[in-house]
Amino acid sequence: MSLLQARGVQKRFGGVIALDGVDLDVPAGSISAVIGPNGSGKTTLLNILSGAYKPDAGAIRFGAQDMAGSPPRRFARAGLARSFQNIRLFSGLSVLDNVRVGAMRGGGPSLLSVLLNLPANRAAEAASREMALAALQKVGIADRADAPAASLPYAQQRLLELARAIAARPRLLLLDEPAAGMNMTEAMALMDIVRRVRDDGITVLLVEHNMRLVMQVSDHLTVLDFGRRIATGTPAEIRANPAVIAAYLGSKAAHA
Ligand code: ADP
Ligand code: MG
Repeated sequence: MSLLQARGVQKRFGGVIALDGVDLDVPAGSISAVIGPNGSGKTTLLNILSGAYKPDAGAIRFGAQDMAGSPPRRFARAGLARSFQNIRLFSGLSVLDNVRVGAMRGGGPSLLSVLLNLPANRAAEAASREMALAALQKVGIADRADAPAASLPYAQQRLLELARAIAARPRLLLLDEPAAGMNMTEAMALMDIVRRVRDDGITVLLVEHNMRLVMQVSDHLTVLDFGRRIATGTPAEIRANPAVIAAYLGSKAAHA
């Protein structure tokens, strides 16, 4: 049973067809991945799967709900959280408050009350602190809870984004190139955390262009090339797929 299912998703930007009838299945409880060369449509697909963009055509089902064209807050209410390809943190807020702001879905403090440090509701405040600390512990940076977000080294800022996304305990977590800019050691540590998140019962959909990395962590992959799905399957199936090999060799040659 797939938690998220997309059928025939199309998206065009002016003359560019970013997605040309893409199908995607994310099995519940899995780590799934969308991979493909730069410009193949991965981020566009993620934006559609989180409501940031409306598809020009196609169907999206999340759980039992038909979601195509719904706004981001409806996806969030249904249990979806995401991180972005470029870091989006409140650099002046503490690490902990960045997580609290991100975990506002369903009864957390408002952004304003966090910013103004309003003692509106002590019990809710304590609960949100606890939830945020648990998320920081999960990604291994709880010791930096009181530091300004901007003071963290780059890799830890990415971990903070991940903590913010999991704090609300989503059913589905979408991650857009979470390892971007990390070295291989940092990236491998991140993938261990992603596994733990999955083991906690959060289904994960990862977008990544680093094949080596996703192959190690994913149960199930979908490969895009020029806005089309050219393959889907297990890492072993993908690795042996001639169309995938050609797409990656082609893009390497093009970027050489
Ligand atoms: P990827 O994430 O796989 O690198 P993208 O989804 O970012 O690919 O982009 C797919 C194609 O759509 C590219 O040709 C890109 O230039 C184009 N594109 C993506 N977003 C926009 C946008 N907001 N406006 C115009 N073109 C876009
Ligand atoms: Mg992208």
